[in-house]
Amino acid sequence: MPELPEVETIKRTLTPCLQEQKIARVEVYHPGVIAAPGPEAFSRLLAGRVITYLDRRGKYLLVHLSGEYCLVAHLRMTGRLVFIEGAAPLANHTHVVFSLAGGRSLRFVDTRRFGRLYLVGEAELETLPGLRDLGPEPLDPAFDARALGAILAGRRRPIKQVLLDQRLVAGIGNIYADEMLFAAGIDPRRPAASLNQEEVARLRGAMQRVLEQGIANHGTSIRDYVDGSGRQGSNQEHLQVYGRTGRPCPRCGQPLERVRLGGRSTHFCPRCQV
Ligand SMILES: [Zn+2]
Repeated sequence: MPELPEVETIKRTLTPCLQEQKIARVEVYHPGVIAAPGPEAFSRLLAGRVITYLDRRGKYLLVHLSGEYCLVAHLRMTGRLVFIEGAAPLANHTHVVFSLAGGRSLRFVDTRRFGRLYLVGEAELETLPGLRDLGPEPLDPAFDARALGAILAGRRRPIKQVLLDQRLVAGIGNIYADEMLFAAGIDPRRPAASLNQEEVARLRGAMQRVLEQGIANHGTSIRDYVDGSGRQGSNQEHLQVYGRTGRPCPRCGQPLERVRLGGRSTHFCPRCQV
């Protein structure tokens, strides 16, 4: 499932392909992926608009358009947005095609169809459910140890679950949560409020390092994720604990363990993470 580094990579790879491009036509092959407005209005309102710039908020990709509109993509499990240079045949599970000038196109492909596209006025962005409730961006310079400490204070839920709660911090999913807790040496099962100041500062540093490394490696391609040009990332080669149950901890050699936390698989080192 694409998390912050994957959506950021998609944004960065699509930006040079899409910026200043005019959307000539939109074909919707599976209306169920259009969350708002209806599929006909979606196509009609998009035709003729120019893409001004791309942005990201949490795991949402924002494609800003002329005339104060914004196309919002939430890729969820298996959604892909891929730029296609020429007249390539439609891949299986292509649900929407945004045709640009010169035969180029942006295609929304999603095998499991959990991804959603919204077309809204810029003014409505702040009221869009999901987007509206997002917590702060962990890579924002304002997200310092004090900001993280304020989020954790008083919360008895395990720290891992707090990191996954999009309303508290935006963009973190199962893979990066496990990696950042390992990098910080913190047991994922600990109540969030039990972290002392020094641990909060360590975790905040680990969050930023792990997310920035994910972006530098163009995202983690374990299952379906590809970037905006259809290429896989390489961060899966750098994961320390995620998906490595039973293998030696890269720091101490002890076998890594897996537990369920809030219904999610959680990978950690029982010796290094306290
Ligand atoms: Zn270890």
